[in-house]
Amino acid sequence: MEGVTPRTSTHFHPFLTSLMTYTPNQERYNAPSFYARCGRSGLLLPKVSLGLWHNFGEVDSFVVARDIVLRAFDLGVTHFDLANNYGPPPGSAERTFGKLLTSDLAAYRDELIISTKAGYNMWPGPYGEWGSRKYLLSSLEQSLRRMGLDYVDIFYSHRYDPTTPLEETMGALAHAVRSGKALYVGISNYDPEMTARAATLLREMGVPLLIHQPVYNMFKRTMENGLLNVLEREGVGCIPFSPLAQGLLTGRYLNGMPSDARASKEHGFLKPEAVSPEVLEQVRSLGEIAEARGQSIAQLAVAWVLRDPRVTTALIGASKISQLEECIAAAPNASFDEAELARIDVILGSSPNK
Ligand code: NDP
Repeated sequence: MEGVTPRTSTHFHPFLTSLMTYTPNQERYNAPSFYARCGRSGLLLPKVSLGLWHNFGEVDSFVVARDIVLRAFDLGVTHFDLANNYGPPPGSAERTFGKLLTSDLAAYRDELIISTKAGYNMWPGPYGEWGSRKYLLSSLEQSLRRMGLDYVDIFYSHRYDPTTPLEETMGALAHAVRSGKALYVGISNYDPEMTARAATLLREMGVPLLIHQPVYNMFKRTMENGLLNVLEREGVGCIPFSPLAQGLLTGRYLNGMPSDARASKEHGFLKPEAVSPEVLEQVRSLGEIAEARGQSIAQLAVAWVLRDPRVTTALIGASKISQLEECIAAAPNASFDEAELARIDVILGSSPNK
């Protein structure tokens, strides 16, 4: 990011780094344009946020996880996104983040926006998933314990539950705020109609809907099909996840399948079949546009998601510090001219309806 010269903890051996006391980069907030208002709320979020879905579980290196999170904070990233089930095993990403809070970040708690979610399968029996009050509030308690926190900044319903009254799910979110265990609430993976209903219900309960977390990237554009308009009308922020299509929209797979890539890992959510010749061909063509803009393919993908002012922040993942740095550096160059957008549409062979 321009104007920021962060301290580079990776100049040292990883073991030494892990023993060093962390002092944040003093210049981390030197670029005010890196922060955007979340909908019509009072909350500003960094244009790039870091998610801990992959690479921060018990199966991953704590030293690398620590380096990435601290580097993000040094670069002005204040928002870290978790969920009850991130790992593997489920829950372990929250434990990793809890350890980091204890070892390095506790003094900066008031500078952090930490989110978590409940919705997917977390524990056995009828109360371990979906959208009941019983599940959501029990899960929030567990998340707080794993992270060693009194409250999270944002608590999400991770998916719409068609068998639980929406009033109950939204009531549980509102209760989380009233009981001081969350400052704001969000929803994820809700369609436009349910989003509008959720926003209305929450407003009636006096707890505005802060943010929606949908998937959005050049390969998955459903969000353009109604959801963005609902969010704009309701004054709700938007934090698209997987802006790099889990790594497909980067140069990661252009020269074969790296052994440390998500698609190579047994627990990786990206399957090797997704890295098809057709996808690689599209990514190569996108690379030409990226090059003309002076960006890498990953930067083009992040910038493309950020081009719409209704998008508050791009929620990326990273397995290396260099990836994080590259993505963050995309934020200042997120405007596109008509010709670039049209060329991208041609390459993707898609209309926004795809
Ligand atoms: P991305 O689309 O940003 O993919 C991240 C992966 O892309 C990285 O792990 C890395 O892959 C690769 N990558 C990142 N930067 C670069 C780069 N500069 N060059 C090359 N490769 C790069 O996001 P995720 O799919 O990780 O999702 C981000 C976050 O969104 C999650 O952590 C989670 O917080 C949230 N999320 C929410 C969901 C929901 O249902 N609400 C669902 C999914 C995600 P590699 O590991 O191979 O190096």
